[in-house]
Amino acid sequence: MKALLIGEYREGKLLESTYELLGFADQLGVETAMLMVGSEAPLPAYGGTLYLADAATCDEYNPDLHKKMILEAVQKENPDYIVFLHSSYGWDLAPRVAAALTAAQVSEVIACVDGSFEVGCCNAKMRRTVKTSTAKTVVTIQAGAFPILQPGGSPIVQKLAASGGAALEFVGYEPAEKKDVDLAKAEVIVSAGRGVGKKDNIPTIAALAKALGGELGASRPVVDAEWVSHSHQVGTTGQTVSPKLYVACGISGAIQHLAGMKKSDFIIAINKDKDAPIGEIADVLVVADVMQFVPALTAKLAR
Ligand SMILES: Cc1cc2nc3c(=O)[nH]c(=O)nc-3n(C[C@H](O)[C@H](O)[C@H](O)COP(=O)(O)OP(=O)(O)OC[C@H]3O[C@@H](n4cnc5c(N)ncnc54)[C@H](O)[C@@H]3O)c2cc1C
Repeated sequence: MKALLIGEYREGKLLESTYELLGFADQLGVETAMLMVGSEAPLPAYGGTLYLADAATCDEYNPDLHKKMILEAVQKENPDYIVFLHSSYGWDLAPRVAAALTAAQVSEVIACVDGSFEVGCCNAKMRRTVKTSTAKTVVTIQAGAFPILQPGGSPIVQKLAASGGAALEFVGYEPAEKKDVDLAKAEVIVSAGRGVGKKDNIPTIAALAKALGGELGASRPVVDAEWVSHSHQVGTTGQTVSPKLYVACGISGAIQHLAGMKKSDFIIAINKDKDAPIGEIADVLVVADVMQFVPALTAKLAR
């Protein structure tokens, strides 16, 4: 069995998440080839075949041209799986490739089990196992769900060139609106989860963040409920952070949240459930009611 892994460069930089594709292939237990569109420097630390197209002529993103190049590589490699990151690139391109190949497509895969794929459902509260029956399967993988695997070595590069016209043209990137808080630079982040209970309790969490000289973060339900603005959200659809200290208050540890904060140097989780999944990655799990523990800790720090 073989997988064609579609890695990504963005603005000339190799995305580290490209190596998660190799982590996925390793769990699936398949051979690999890779395809990327971008600059030649740096090439991924990967000793297999790399189909490489130049972004200057093929655009950094162009669904028509990139789909054609992927199909060309599919013809050469005859892979069983074509695997994308679940990024804005992957989620736009994967269905186009799947439709062209009349292949099954499974989006946001979080685990592989005996040739089947696990995906989240019911707002990621449950997992569904999916088995495909087509000859080829197109997959997108959830950010952070698979380990980074850097096999090392230098790829055997096979150049690809775009041919034919395209209905769309890549114009460029525009910086996102300036946020009221930049969590990416914070050394300490104290994040509020649904477990804090209500909007009125947010200032209590913010006070701990302030006492520790840090910033206030949040999980998605807290943002969705409009207790704090989206610029505070940590996770796959929020910011990716790597502070020295991350304090998770009333956060269960869903994969989408972990993807955004698991690289923090030291993680303290405060949760009333001793079996909450966040406990698996936390350096310290405090089993307590967050609204009792946090004010007591802040008061101690103030002394
Ligand atoms: C496509 C997609 C993208 C997503 N992107 C993100 C994202 O970027 N960021 C993100 O965070 N989520 C994201 N999610 C949502 C994610 O799947 C989870 O639903 C979310 O992270 C859960 O947030 P939570 O931990 O605050 O809430 P819950 O999962 O409800 O957990 C609350 C926790 O608080 C604990 N608790 C309750 N009361 C107390 C108390 N009094 N004291 C102490 N502990 C208490 C509970 O034991 C529980 O562990 C995304 C989901 C999808 C489908």
